[in-house]
Amino acid sequence: MMRCSTLTSLLLATALAWALAATPANAEPAADDVLALDNVHIVEAEHNRVSVRRCVRVQGTRIATITAAGEPACLRGAGAVDLQGRYLMPGMIDMHAHLTLGPLEIRREGEGVVMQALPDDDIAEHNARRLVAFGVTTIRDPGGDLAAAGRYKARLAAGELVGPESFHAGPVINNAELPGLATAARSAEDMERVVRAQVQAGADWIKLYTGLSPELLKAGIDAAHRQGRPTVAHLDNIAWTDALAMGLDGIVHLMPLSPDLLTPEQRAAWQATARGGTFSFFEWWEHFDPEGAQADRLVAAFGQHRPVFDATLVAFHAAFVQDRDNPYKDDARRHAHPRLLAHWNEWFTFAIGWEPDDFQRARAVWPKVQRMAARLYSTDARLTLGTDMSNPWIAPGISLHREMQLLAEAGVPTARLLLAATRTAAEALGAGQRLGQVAPGFEADLLVLDGNPLDDIRHTRQIHAVVLDGSLLTTTELNQLTSGIGSGGAK
Ligand SMILES: [Zn+2]
Repeated sequence: MMRCSTLTSLLLATALAWALAATPANAEPAADDVLALDNVHIVEAEHNRVSVRRCVRVQGTRIATITAAGEPACLRGAGAVDLQGRYLMPGMIDMHAHLTLGPLEIRREGEGVVMQALPDDDIAEHNARRLVAFGVTTIRDPGGDLAAAGRYKARLAAGELVGPESFHAGPVINNAELPGLATAARSAEDMERVVRAQVQAGADWIKLYTGLSPELLKAGIDAAHRQGRPTVAHLDNIAWTDALAMGLDGIVHLMPLSPDLLTPEQRAAWQATARGGTFSFFEWWEHFDPEGAQADRLVAAFGQHRPVFDATLVAFHAAFVQDRDNPYKDDARRHAHPRLLAHWNEWFTFAIGWEPDDFQRARAVWPKVQRMAARLYSTDARLTLGTDMSNPWIAPGISLHREMQLLAEAGVPTARLLLAATRTAAEALGAGQRLGQVAPGFEADLLVLDGNPLDDIRHTRQIHAVVLDGSLLTTTELNQLTSGIGSGGAK
């Protein structure tokens, strides 16, 4: 990653003030690209503990050394910051953030209906700033326009905006076209052509979608692998276990909805009354047994095939409580782009047509969702975190903290959540050698917290500072990132 010149100018005054305050009068002046984060406990999630106080020396965009606190070799010539026993962890990774996506539009045009979800650069910039403000320094966009992704990356590299490093899937590949969001593939030849074109346009991942037949899903997996790209799928009809056996690399959304996870009796009962659509979000769970043999089979398949997985519980929970005041609406009012917020307020949510009784039923199945989340997040799969940002009520940045809280409430240990938010996700992105750890040689994308996140996952929200590509952002600068719309604030 290149250093960001906007950031540099934004921070210059503060960094200088710090450097002057921290450097004794007779010391050599601080180099402006060397930062010493002193007196800080490093969160060691893999060992479920924090280190004794350390000094982390950042040179340019990378972590150079980690020594005992106060070590002269760490402080020498650096802009030193005394973090007074705070906690340092890697910047977080949202594996399911639709960065560039604009509102889903549906309208009549002559005889037909036009559906599209076009990208919006202003929304992308707005999202990017807030992701960083909440400690998210890397994202995977699991479905979106690749030209918009390219524009975002170019502007980030040129220092024209502040945002996370991004990995991108192209438009989801499905059985029908939806401009901006989905590309149709109706034959194996189609699939080969679409995958090839997406890879040439810069896709890091290939996203396969619910409408594909098993044959086309397999064709997509094989075509992506021939092009050296991993595959991730949102599936319902096709059994997750079958897809994993085909070689699928990743699964999104803890909403399997697949008939094979029900016994014949459960399936018959479900299908007799199912209304389909988003009603399935609870109707299916009413029949599914998270302790049953089918659930056991899925858990075993996660251990065997080790898919990259993100549950996006927050996207479903936000729908399940949409009939009440809830924190997701508050988050959206404060942090979602106004175009998206207006769209959700006007009509687009996952609970369209739900009656009071439907919300009751949805909340009644939530313990089953929690139980299945806890079971899957205790497997050896590559467990990551995702939010489905830009879908209804899912605001940038804060939603990743909400997701962690929901998973913690489901019984997932905090240490496991922190790994899912950092190291495991970095490894899943093929960037495990440079992202996701506080270690020498790793990129200096870091989070300074007031409280120990191993004690309470909500402490990840107590952000004292963020380091992005080696540049320190204090609370004042982070607040600037969350004020205003789009690019307003930092320029
Ligand atoms: Zn999504």
